[in-house]
Amino acid sequence: MARILITSALPYINGIKHLGNLVGSQLPADLYARYCRARGHEVMFICATDEHGTPAELAAAKAGKPVDEYCAEMHDVQAELARGFLLSFDHFGRSSSQRNHVLTQHLAGKLADAGRISEVSEKQVYSNADGRFLPDRYIEGTCPNCGYDRARGDQCENCTKQLDPTDLIDPRSAISGSTDLEVRETKHLFLRQSDMRDQLDKWIDSQRNWPVLTTSIAKKWLHDGDGLQDRGITRDLDWGIPVKRGDKDWPGMEGKVFYVWFDAPIEYIAATAEWADAQGLDDSAWQRWWRTDLGADDVRYVQFMGKDNVPFHTLSFPATLMGSGEPWKLVNYIKSFNYLNYDGGQFSTSQGRGVFMDQALAILPADYWRWWLLSHAPESSDSEFTWENFQASVNKDLADVLGNLVSRVTKFCRSKFGEVVPEGGTLGARETALMDALTTRLRAYETHMEAMEIRKSAAELRALWVLGNEYLQDAAPWSTFKSDPEQAAAQIRLALNLIRFYAIISRPFIPDAAASMMAGMQSDDWTWPDTVTDALAQLDAGHSFIVPDVLFAKITDENRAAWEAQFSGQR
Ligand SMILES: [Zn+2]
Repeated sequence: MARILITSALPYINGIKHLGNLVGSQLPADLYARYCRARGHEVMFICATDEHGTPAELAAAKAGKPVDEYCAEMHDVQAELARGFLLSFDHFGRSSSQRNHVLTQHLAGKLADAGRISEVSEKQVYSNADGRFLPDRYIEGTCPNCGYDRARGDQCENCTKQLDPTDLIDPRSAISGSTDLEVRETKHLFLRQSDMRDQLDKWIDSQRNWPVLTTSIAKKWLHDGDGLQDRGITRDLDWGIPVKRGDKDWPGMEGKVFYVWFDAPIEYIAATAEWADAQGLDDSAWQRWWRTDLGADDVRYVQFMGKDNVPFHTLSFPATLMGSGEPWKLVNYIKSFNYLNYDGGQFSTSQGRGVFMDQALAILPADYWRWWLLSHAPESSDSEFTWENFQASVNKDLADVLGNLVSRVTKFCRSKFGEVVPEGGTLGARETALMDALTTRLRAYETHMEAMEIRKSAAELRALWVLGNEYLQDAAPWSTFKSDPEQAAAQIRLALNLIRFYAIISRPFIPDAAASMMAGMQSDDWTWPDTVTDALAQLDAGHSFIVPDVLFAKITDENRAAWEAQFSGQR
């Protein structure tokens, strides 16, 4: 059995995430975590809310709340939605935790000791009315290139020209609209990533089988233009982790905090420490996942994220860990995703376009969404959510194929034999052929799941369900029963076992439906099938079962039209 550490990119705190965010990291990470547990591996599955930075401060101000209170509330909202989607985190932490404060300050101190930090004076725009420095994108003005009057300090959205805030004509604060701005000098800490370019390059070259999407993004940042640049790790903000060198003050950095990109990935480690604290365990319990000198050498560490997060996870976070000179566990495999689009455009948090996690759960159970999202995961290219496709996929795959099999078999058995597994009859060539076909597909399913090929896994699972349906269609116990009830009994006995088998192998995708199927079969043996023949002989004649409630209701055309209209406009 292996030990597998799994982290999902951290959802940002300033609002409820949409389905595109969900399928870009947390949901596929959950699928993999559930699969690894089902195969008997020891799993640590970690996620957290990413709580620092200017957008959190602004969202709190908009909500009329102190930022710490706002973050605490939004964390609870996101945690509740994660439970709603059946995301099986071992711990869902907070990047604002005390554990992350201490660890971030510790790593910054170690980086400084190792000569990996430089102090740089820079000029930044200060807003007198707001009483704060403004990040580039919170300065607006007229573009000197095209005349667009809402260009941002980092880029003009209209002509895409990269800008410096000082390029803007008539600059103003995007927060208050004030034009009372001045340029002030301020000192910041920079992580000297450029010095570590060769080390990072070698490390990436030594990785086996990383997806092209992951390595190509990393290589581009390493080598394009002037190559990997040093990166500021501090900001002039109130909300964040105070800059300290270990547990000591950092002269000249008073009143500053670490930049959110620096402390967010460190929370993967801190959240594991939070988990140990919550379990009443000591430090060795989390260190054996993260310190190669304390047991993490045999851990396989897998990260899940959207493609926009790849540069930080292939370069900046490894540079932080390597540069500290301490033996931290580095990632072994990065599974990255393209984007999910919504009905001919993009999901948009700011415009409220698309389906958000709370809205999704308000209209349908989690399994419906989990199945569609995972079976259409944007792996090799962007993919698109449409209501038509969602309706077709739910109705065909879940209701017609899987749900119908469960309902037909259990109801037929109840009416002819009662609510017990029937006895009598023997299995023949047709059943042997079914088991051979199931075996081939099951092994393919396992291979795809291990490789985190999510769409291929879903297709294989669907094919496994289809085999059961085709068998029943062909064997037709409802007809056989009239001439040869013994034979029909053997067929139904096999089909009831098939339901339990499907519960086990479908559980990573659709955990609630799998639980209903298993409960219906009055079993709680979730052992992964070694051989199909054994797995289909677990429920003996005389074992009682109950007919489960309808597993999946069909989505009607009226539902579809109503939802299409409901989600087309503003949230
Ligand atoms: Zn412009």
